[in-house]
Amino acid sequence: MIRIEGLRKKFGDTEALKGVSFAVQPGEILGLLGPNGAGKSTTVKILTGLLPASGGTAWLNNYNIATDPIKVKKSFGYVPESGALYESLTGWEYLELVADLHHLDRGVFRQRAGEFLDLFDLLADKDRRISGYSKGMRQKILISAALIHNPQVLLFDEPLNGVDANTALIFKQLLKRLGEQGKTILFCSHVLEVVERLCTRIVIINEGLVVADGTPEAISEQTGHASLENAFHQITGAADADEKAEEFLQALEGLKA
Ligand code: ADP
Repeated sequence: MIRIEGLRKKFGDTEALKGVSFAVQPGEILGLLGPNGAGKSTTVKILTGLLPASGGTAWLNNYNIATDPIKVKKSFGYVPESGALYESLTGWEYLELVADLHHLDRGVFRQRAGEFLDLFDLLADKDRRISGYSKGMRQKILISAALIHNPQVLLFDEPLNGVDANTALIFKQLLKRLGEQGKTILFCSHVLEVVERLCTRIVIINEGLVVADGTPEAISEQTGHASLENAFHQITGAADADEKAEEFLQALEGLKA
């Protein structure tokens, strides 16, 4: 499980998180939604230990992120928004390195890595250096690395960035199955359609605060909108899209004059 209580984060004068609280239970796929800059990545980075919180705390698998960081790190797999990979390693070597860091048995590693790369159509490229990989190939390696030690908690920050439609389909199917197996899954995205179809619950954050928490249907109902998209726009206070487009056109006209 994941439990977050009153999480705060300040970057200088910017208050990125102003007291975020929510929980994710085993078997749940929670979609963390919010406009750009809402605080999604900051929340996930604090959970992984990449960033310290300025206040509040969180638990992963019942381990406190502040007092039990090693046990926390063993409990989760993480796909970052833009992952830095060791460019000079091959895809296979990178997965081996991650497996070694988790003290994974060699035989188990070889079998899992082989199967993952096969599923992602990467077997033929496994001995090429990552520096020559496309964005989608890198993302496949990051997803494989996040799953290699079969963690209880999965943290995905925009995991489908740059992957093609076929890979996205495999990944979404995989996520569903992992949820059914009882994994605790946090899925950050700004793609509403994917979150709506995949997630069992949604938390929307805006300007560092939770502004909605419930099933997609419940959130639509609360706001009186038929679609999650319209509910999202209302909750996050986005300006009218037509008006914005008109303002852009007027700005272009102004440039011409
Ligand atoms: P999201 O993932 O929802 O797009 P982020 O969590 O990346 O949002 O950012 C939340 C806020 O924190 C934004 O205002 C962003 O500019 C700010 N922020 C994030 N990371 C940093 C950083 N390393 N230094 C300064 N400000 C940051």
